Amino acid sequence: MSAKEDYQELEKRARELGLIGASYALLEWDHQVNMPPKSAETRAEMTSYLAGMMHEKFVDPKVGELISSVESSDLVKDPESIIAANIRELRHQYDKETKLPKELVEEFEKTTALAHGIWAEARKNNDFKTFEPALKKIVDLTKQKAEAYGYEGEPYNALLDNYEPGATTAEVADVFEKLRVELVELLAKIKDAPNQPDGSIIERPYDVKNQQIFGELVAKTMGYDFDEGRLDIATHPFTTAFGPGDTRITTRYNPNRLNDALFGTIHEAGHALYEMGLKKKENFGMPVGDSASLGIHESQSRMWENMVGRSKPFWNYFFPIAQSMFRESLGHVSFDEFYAAVNYVAPSYIRVEADEVTYNLHILLRFEMERAILNGDIKIADVPGEWNSRFEKYFGIKVDNDANGCLQDVHWSAGLMGYFPTYTLGNIYAAQFYAQANKDIPDLEQRVERGDLLTLREWLRENIHQHGQRYRANDLCKRITGEGLSHKPMMDYMNKKFAEVYGY
Ligand SMILES: [Zn+2]
Repeated sequence: MSAKEDYQELEKRARELGLIGASYALLEWDHQVNMPPKSAETRAEMTSYLAGMMHEKFVDPKVGELISSVESSDLVKDPESIIAANIRELRHQYDKETKLPKELVEEFEKTTALAHGIWAEARKNNDFKTFEPALKKIVDLTKQKAEAYGYEGEPYNALLDNYEPGATTAEVADVFEKLRVELVELLAKIKDAPNQPDGSIIERPYDVKNQQIFGELVAKTMGYDFDEGRLDIATHPFTTAFGPGDTRITTRYNPNRLNDALFGTIHEAGHALYEMGLKKKENFGMPVGDSASLGIHESQSRMWENMVGRSKPFWNYFFPIAQSMFRESLGHVSFDEFYAAVNYVAPSYIRVEADEVTYNLHILLRFEMERAILNGDIKIADVPGEWNSRFEKYFGIKVDNDANGCLQDVHWSAGLMGYFPTYTLGNIYAAQFYAQANKDIPDLEQRVERGDLLTLREWLRENIHQHGQRYRANDLCKRITGEGLSHKPMMDYMNKKFAEVYGY
């Protein structure tokens, strides 16, 4: 067969994997949104069957041969071409997927499946000791995984690469350290500032039906198309996509708090716009039809949630609508009071409830801890102590118990080490992209003020969404902004915004 035919064969196989993947995702969506509890066992069997099928089809030696054939042909001559990008990423994924011994994969799955329940119980009882042996085993297996993948420098590189292909621990650590110093300074200024917002404004009764109508209105205004999506309720909100024409978002409603569903919906709609903007029809199942990295994905949700959704122009348009829908709670609140309340900053224990400023400190702490654990610099038994002392240093508050400390997140029990940094990478990229969008569209804020959010959506589609994995995250950022990963635009944005909100 010619290289061209081999490439077509790869496309055909990728499409098949894409179809199985979409079916898997649909089952998972149903699991989180609709499934009756007694179906859990059957569902687990269904999804693990499909997962095994995808793995086997992908690691087929024939796939490796097809990739090699295209690699050594003229088809990849131009490294910027779509074919070259697809082959680059398929090679990357294929090598990773075939490097792990089957026994290790099985052992890892068994261990993490059991660890979930142990972790949940330990968190409930505030008892790290009962989770310690499971965590130790997960860390040992994770180290073995890193060795099997292979890495330069430290083992963390092999894990980070699973979620943020091409990123290195050293460069991320360098940017994060600069960020940490400036965030701690910013937090100190906010603490002593003269204007302290009244955060209780958002902690009032907000009719759930109206929260839903309002959330849907915002999502529609952003360009989320309900003819190719749905908004449903889930305990742990997420976005999922089943190929061209079907991208779904979920949220959860708190009748006594406006922020959870509102900013949650904006966040997930931001993820969804990325999925909807990928060229899936032409590249279904191929890397170019898929998102660039978790960091880039998160940059899309965070930009909409924070840089747009917590901005003055956005609320100039939406606040009167919100006031008319939530008369009892917002009728007597001024614009400035409301704007300050949605930008309220207060250090707290729980990452998922954190504000825009302290959120990243939560991530930096986890990144440091994971890296040190993997390098053997922190013993598992010392995790709570190390966590608590670092937490106090960054946040200025003492951790009262492990459920509010090192036991709060599900990630480690699921074996997801190397994942956390992508949250802050998302925030950093979001600020870099948003600064550039404002340069390219000088009247962007005036447009947002008029309720025109589609101009920004178009800019994102053009510059980011349509490319999928054609460029790796850092290269994409360079192409768009002329610079690689940099914490500066994010700190500029935060320093300006919070100086104004807090009046210092
Ligand atoms: Zn997200």
